[in-house]
Amino acid sequence: MTAMLEGIGMTSRRTRMRLVQRLREAGIESEAVLEIIGQVPRHIFLDEALAHRAYEDTSLPIGHNQTLSQPYIVARMTELLLAHKPERVLELGTGSGYQTAVLAQLFPQIFSVERIRPLQDRARDRLRKLQCRNVLLKHADGGMGWPERGPFDGIIVTAAPTDVPAELLEQLAEGGVLIAPVGEEQQVLVEVVRRGDRFERRELEPVRFVPLLAGVIR
Ligand code: SAH
Repeated sequence: MTAMLEGIGMTSRRTRMRLVQRLREAGIESEAVLEIIGQVPRHIFLDEALAHRAYEDTSLPIGHNQTLSQPYIVARMTELLLAHKPERVLELGTGSGYQTAVLAQLFPQIFSVERIRPLQDRARDRLRKLQCRNVLLKHADGGMGWPERGPFDGIIVTAAPTDVPAELLEQLAEGGVLIAPVGEEQQVLVEVVRRGDRFERRELEPVRFVPLLAGVIR
């Protein structure tokens, strides 16, 4: 796939490398993550009118009041997951599919849930174009996780719940890690690691995400 990506789009390598440099300066340390961010074409995850802003370190609208997350936070959350070397990863909030594409380059199996059908359809097309074959998508309210496919070694939530749902913690495998933005007005990035029946929780940094909402949109 790496070779494939090089051919897609017209964005120059230099533009992407500038973003990578920026993320490095912002504190992203994982070379594996930086390399993938430098390879995955973010512009194809945006409407044409916004594609020229794809390599700015900023979140951008994708319709339905949702946003494609800022590259820094995509990189940060991915780096936190990678530290635990998960094999099966659950993502809640497929959105544009950009984070999903990044995860698909680093982990063997990705399961991603999105509640807004039209967003999921577009994400599916893009992931197909990039030949991300290790991704399974589901249209559902992901607040309950994906119990039939669990347990997961990694869970990443890309919309903010008011607190970490207990159902998600139950779907964490032993030693597994969950990364989620938590809160309403004030949100914080939370990491939870499962050790037997114990859940070790760390609060990492302030973040800003759209809320995790209940129900589905067709
Ligand atoms: N990772 C995505 C982020 C999109 S924004 C990207 O970078 O493009 C968050 C996404 O979470 C939105 O698409 C929103 O519809 C979705 N979402 C919110 N609540 C959800 C829920 N309960 N289940 C599944 N998806 C949800």
